[in-house]
Amino acid sequence: MTVQVSKSVSALDKINLDGPIFDPGAFRLNDEQAGIITTARELGQTVFAGRAAAYDRDAKFPTENYRDLHRTGLLGIAIPKKHGGLGAGYQTYAIAAAEIGRYCGATALTWNMHVCSTLWSGPLADDLDMDAETRAEHERRRAVHYKRIVEDGAIYSQPFSEGGAAAAGGVAFGTEAKPVEGGWIVNGKKIFASLSGHADYYGVLCTEIAEGEKASRRNTLYLALPAKSDGVSVVGDWDPLGMRGTVSRTLLFKDVFVAQDAALMPRGVYFQAAMRWPHMFLTLSPTYVGLAQAAYDFTVRYLRGEVPGTPPVKRRMYPTKQIAVAQMQIKLEQVKAIWFQAVTEARANPTKEQVLRAYAAQYSAMEGANEIATLAIRTCGGQAMLKSLPLERIYRDSRCGSLMLPWTAELCLDRIGREALYETGESDE
Ligand SMILES: Cc1cc2nc3c(=O)[nH]c(=O)nc-3n(C[C@H](O)[C@H](O)[C@H](O)COP(=O)(O)OP(=O)(O)OC[C@H]3O[C@@H](n4cnc5c(N)ncnc54)[C@H](O)[C@@H]3O)c2cc1C
Repeated sequence: MTVQVSKSVSALDKINLDGPIFDPGAFRLNDEQAGIITTARELGQTVFAGRAAAYDRDAKFPTENYRDLHRTGLLGIAIPKKHGGLGAGYQTYAIAAAEIGRYCGATALTWNMHVCSTLWSGPLADDLDMDAETRAEHERRRAVHYKRIVEDGAIYSQPFSEGGAAAAGGVAFGTEAKPVEGGWIVNGKKIFASLSGHADYYGVLCTEIAEGEKASRRNTLYLALPAKSDGVSVVGDWDPLGMRGTVSRTLLFKDVFVAQDAALMPRGVYFQAAMRWPHMFLTLSPTYVGLAQAAYDFTVRYLRGEVPGTPPVKRRMYPTKQIAVAQMQIKLEQVKAIWFQAVTEARANPTKEQVLRAYAAQYSAMEGANEIATLAIRTCGGQAMLKSLPLERIYRDSRCGSLMLPWTAELCLDRIGREALYETGESDE
């Protein structure tokens, strides 16, 4: 069958798969941003994509990828330049992470946990209120963490889930830090702790409680516990549906002493961030924007008969395929548009409209990635879902996005609905 294709729009002549998800010109990114994002994309495309299947199959942590992230400077992407990092802001990091997620979801998701330890203590903390003495102390402490990352390639994780209401932001964390001479004694348990057994430092969210005090969310501490400390153990197995390379096992802390320099944020600053910088919880979404793009790219390539390792059979001439690809493209552009706007306007003290948009962006990325991957499988057909090809992994990885606390898909719906209808403090009683 010969299909006549109109050539009236010259830009349509070139299908640029593996091009930037967000073209720097079209999305007005500057040269420095484009450079960092290109480094991430090229690393993902040329190196991480080839390793992703093995990490997934064996549920193995992507250690080799972390060496490459260190080698290319990306381990310190959000560390300020004066501390030896790349000095990327929120938007640049988010787009770079989407590019990594496109080629290896587990690497992007775990890299997010690591980067947040520098993003939250870095550019985000710079926006928050601290008196001069506290800020100077914070500056001294974060320099210690940044040096480890930049010079030694230290990897940080971010365990906050505990299986109760704390990770959703409802109550204080059950993991407790008791102040003692020179630091704290930490006791508690974290579930789904990505990078467990592989991070050098666990960035634990916990509640500081002195003898006789009641637990309060205001007293949340963000402490980087050395993984090799006495009293730290990793338990349980890890054999999940998707995101298998994250190795999100259970962490136990039994009377772990942690020194004062372990604080990634000063007292009270995490709580302030959660109240005033809500986009801090949107950082799990870039991985899934990347997965959405990956599912789309795969489908176009497959229908054009260009997927390596498959016979060069074209399937693009059927109108149903073309309609499905059109639906995927529309969905992808919708996800990209709202998400780009949300990561671009991330800041301290956002307006209510911006916060509702951030929830909507999170929901759109997390659910949208899986919708696109689902459509990709249906459209490409049985031969495309074999484990020798990346699509079924993309599909499984994408299913995990909407489960991530504190902004699960359900909680986003819950908050948008309530906050759209009620002002703070308003009730019907
Ligand atoms: C691959 C993967 C990696 C992860 N990595 C990390 C990590 O590195 N660090 C980390 O801290 N956590 C991590 N998590 C954990 C994740 O954020 C969740 O905590 C985890 O999935 C447990 O969720 P749950 O469904 O058991 O939670 P539950 O609290 O049992 O919630 C179940 C569902 O109920 C809904 N729900 C919960 N609370 C409310 C509420 N108050 N109102 C309305 N609905 C509610 C939510 O939609 C939620 O999905 C990871 C999870 C996965 C799948």
